[in-house]
Amino acid sequence: MMMWFDPMYFIFLSPAIVLMLWAQFRVKSAYAAGMKIATPLSGASAARHMLDQAGCHDVGIEETHGMLSDHYDPRHRVLRLSRDVFHSRSATAVGIAAHEAGHALQHAQHYAPLALRNFAVPAAQFGPTAFIVLLILGMFLRNPNLIYLGLIAYGGLVVFQMINLPVEFDASNRAKAALSEYGIVDQQGAVAVRNVLNAAGWTYVAATLQALLTLLYYVMRFTGGSRND
Ligand SMILES: [Zn+2]
Repeated sequence: MMMWFDPMYFIFLSPAIVLMLWAQFRVKSAYAAGMKIATPLSGASAARHMLDQAGCHDVGIEETHGMLSDHYDPRHRVLRLSRDVFHSRSATAVGIAAHEAGHALQHAQHYAPLALRNFAVPAAQFGPTAFIVLLILGMFLRNPNLIYLGLIAYGGLVVFQMINLPVEFDASNRAKAALSEYGIVDQQGAVAVRNVLNAAGWTYVAATLQALLTLLYYVMRFTGGSRND
């Protein structure tokens, strides 16, 4: 069970960890800076306008609790916006709200990577748990096949993260374009929106890198040539 304390794991993962910390710091500072740039519409109104312009009149917008809990729920076809994003008339609010509206537009227009991502959600949800269970079972029973199966299960998370990247970037691009096109942000506001959405994009890149490096680490650990345990 030495593997749980392997310092190599943290050295191996360090690029992803550093990138994640940097991205989270950027999200926080861009979020705060963008809150100070005023816009004529609130986040909710901006998203409503963007949805209506695209003919998505039936997509609802609700307020939800918790900071940065904003998301689009494809099952109920509703945008859930956190309190600040819902009410605030700021570049941060309209940027995040428009990003979530971008996901609703992807859904309405049957944007293929989104469908693929939704299909891969169970792999992301159960992959890591299945991985740990199979890893422990495989080591106890000394059955390498269970370990390989666990690695494949973890691969499901990596695949999900990779499909997720173009989906997130596309939603942000839709948001930036719509906010400028409809005159919801001026040039200064557009820069603030771009900073918020790009910073958020980097957290997805960091999460993908983290999942990929974790998988590589375990693949090397269990299939590599050096069997010194
Ligand atoms: Zn998103």
